[in-house]
Amino acid sequence: MTAAATRVFERRRITVRGVVQGVGFRPFVARLAGELALSGHVGNDDISVFIEVEGPGSALVEFLRRLRDDAPPLARVAMVDSVTIAATGHEGFEIVESRHEPGLRTLVPADTATCDSCSREMLDPADRRYRHPFITCTDCGPRFTIITDLPYDRPATTMAPFPMCDACRAEYEDPDDRRYHAQPVACHDCGPRLWAQDASGEVASGERAGRVDSADAAIARAQEVLVNGGIVAIKGIGGFHLACDAANGDAVATLRQRKGRPDKPFALMAADLAAAHTLIQLDATGAAVLSGPARPIVLAATAAGAPVAPGVAPGLDELGVMLAYAPVHQLLFAAGPGGPAEVPQVLVMTSGNLSDEPLAFTNGDALARLGDIADLFLLHDRDIAVPCEDSVVTIRDGFEVPVRRSRGFAPLPVWLDGADDAPAVLAVGGEIKNTFSVTRGGLAFMSAHLGEMGSLESMAAFDRSVAQLLALHGVEPAVIAADDHPGYNTRAWAERRAERDGLPVVTVQHHHAHFASLLAEHGRQNLTDGPVVGIVLDGTGYGCDKTVWGGEILLCDGDIAHAERVGHLEPFALPGGDAAVRNPFRVALSLLHLAGIDESGLDLADAIDVAERQIVHTMLATGTGCVTTSSAGRLFDGVSSLLGVKHRISYEAQAAIELEAVAHAATESAELSTTVEDGVVRLGPLVRGIVDALHAGADRAAIARGFHEALAEALAESALAACASHHGRTVGLTGGVFANRMLTEALTHRLARAGVECITHRVVPCNDGGLALGQAVVAHARNRRGEN
Ligand code: ZN
Ligand code: ZN
Ligand code: FE
Repeated sequence: MTAAATRVFERRRITVRGVVQGVGFRPFVARLAGELALSGHVGNDDISVFIEVEGPGSALVEFLRRLRDDAPPLARVAMVDSVTIAATGHEGFEIVESRHEPGLRTLVPADTATCDSCSREMLDPADRRYRHPFITCTDCGPRFTIITDLPYDRPATTMAPFPMCDACRAEYEDPDDRRYHAQPVACHDCGPRLWAQDASGEVASGERAGRVDSADAAIARAQEVLVNGGIVAIKGIGGFHLACDAANGDAVATLRQRKGRPDKPFALMAADLAAAHTLIQLDATGAAVLSGPARPIVLAATAAGAPVAPGVAPGLDELGVMLAYAPVHQLLFAAGPGGPAEVPQVLVMTSGNLSDEPLAFTNGDALARLGDIADLFLLHDRDIAVPCEDSVVTIRDGFEVPVRRSRGFAPLPVWLDGADDAPAVLAVGGEIKNTFSVTRGGLAFMSAHLGEMGSLESMAAFDRSVAQLLALHGVEPAVIAADDHPGYNTRAWAERRAERDGLPVVTVQHHHAHFASLLAEHGRQNLTDGPVVGIVLDGTGYGCDKTVWGGEILLCDGDIAHAERVGHLEPFALPGGDAAVRNPFRVALSLLHLAGIDESGLDLADAIDVAERQIVHTMLATGTGCVTTSSAGRLFDGVSSLLGVKHRISYEAQAAIELEAVAHAATESAELSTTVEDGVVRLGPLVRGIVDALHAGADRAAIARGFHEALAEALAESALAACASHHGRTVGLTGGVFANRMLTEALTHRLARAGVECITHRVVPCNDGGLALGQAVVAHARNRRGEN
């Protein structure tokens, strides 16, 4: 008997699902098999990578482990199935032809920041892609934003008009090359072009007046404008940014004035981690997330002496920072041939739009809409197929917490447990911070951030994005899910669409949807581990009693299809509805009215004209023009005004955000408290305590902090009572107010002390950006019960 014949070889057939196509997965499998001396083959079908490997059992175990652990950077391995089949004895390992089955769709990868290898090549004068503004490889570059159809292949991307040169094609076709099957691969000879121009550049009848045409000259011109205090509109990966020098107070003020954005904080872009450390306080997780492949904006506490103008984030103690993520950004921060001696250090990088309008993403649109804002346009001729704004995250307890899930994440799905047979749902989301979701079996694909749905333009953008995501995933929805709110544009859109296509509409109460999104991302939507209590705090949601809700304790028991309201904040009046949202002093007067005290001696009595206050007093006394609310967001607004932090706002949640910033500065906490009756958190004692503390001359930072603590205490008491009476052991925190770190920490601390499990968001935002996921899973649950 020969030695070879005594060896026991096994053969496995392995199926890998997830984001495994167009990300270098097959060459990775081939290399791995080679290293472990396994024979067999690897190939793609429409939704998975299939592999057969043969060799010693121990090597197969190692292969399966490294298949997950060492997967290429852009891959997201969701499922690995492995079955043992008969060994064949064949030698060698090969990459085999793709198989196509009609009706199946692969997953679309997200856009990814330029990788280290590409960055190195781009800055290497000896490399043939030296300073190439579109350098990319299998591990990096645009994906979602350039794909027009599937299968993901060059002709189905906006790279289609740029035929590869011979050198690029050779790399593209070589399985050992870093650019093997990298669809956007290009170089100076064959790729897209970068140029700079002013807004009138194209009007000048083809003479290219005002245009600067070589990529180096265009970058140099943009650098010059930026360091001299000008504003440049920059076409990037998912749309346009408006940029200016973040250290230049005049430039920042000009940008605010031209964009019509008086206070809302601007995001910053830094060249590298070292520069980011001068801006924000970063721990190891923060640094890893900041420089990771998604390159989101990371919100973190401002570093001492951060080299930025105060106008970047007025009234706040944190900054949003991202690192350069596209080649064109990296070039802007680098000294180059013919460029100015001084290059930008830290840039304001804010979305290329006027406040509340959708993001500009075509050259023509940007030139038309941003012409009065930007002094120079840095453009290119690779189209953006679908707009995608920057993502925003914070870091809490060593985890990345999403605030806006968009570039680098969209359209990656959330996996839904046990939903393989569920009908396809199109969930349209809410009215602000809008995202929508499309489900296919156990996957919920999440759209990029679309923002405010208040205008015709934004509904048109919504329409386009829905069409694109449905086409990309080959989904025909069977159900449309929307918010209960009869006035939401997205709900009206859902009704029209459902009528056109003869589909049922499922409407879901706003806070129930928030809660369901949290349960779904934790794989808890089937409630198999018992009932869960949700503390759902936000600005506004349409309540089951037709009032405005926003400070709710909900219970899901047995089935996520329905939620029971087991507690809430004591309702108070919103004098003038939306006018009270824009003018927190109105809420302050309402809270004082509820507590039976007047405003004399408080900051707002000096800051607000007596006639204006009188109007509000009359409304409160008669109830005329008042809406009833239990909104936690409004409570924070009112307290912000009571403490003299903010009486009027220019962006959503401004008063609450600035209140938290004030509380962060506290060295001690004022003793405040309130009572809970039948799950209802009373506000009178809280407001009286705040006013007494003010009259006693207590520090307003200490009062702000005391308010956070007292509210957390009362909410925890209400939630724990609900747990006790329903045998629940888990409490979930969701809703936009949980962007507030101090409140989140105070609550998680109290719940942990009481021995209940506390779950918070890690996958979708706690704000309305996560709503669509919750709507979708509630629609699934109601479908299971035969309710739609
Ligand atoms: Zn790369
Ligand atoms: Zn080329
Ligand atoms: Fe909400």
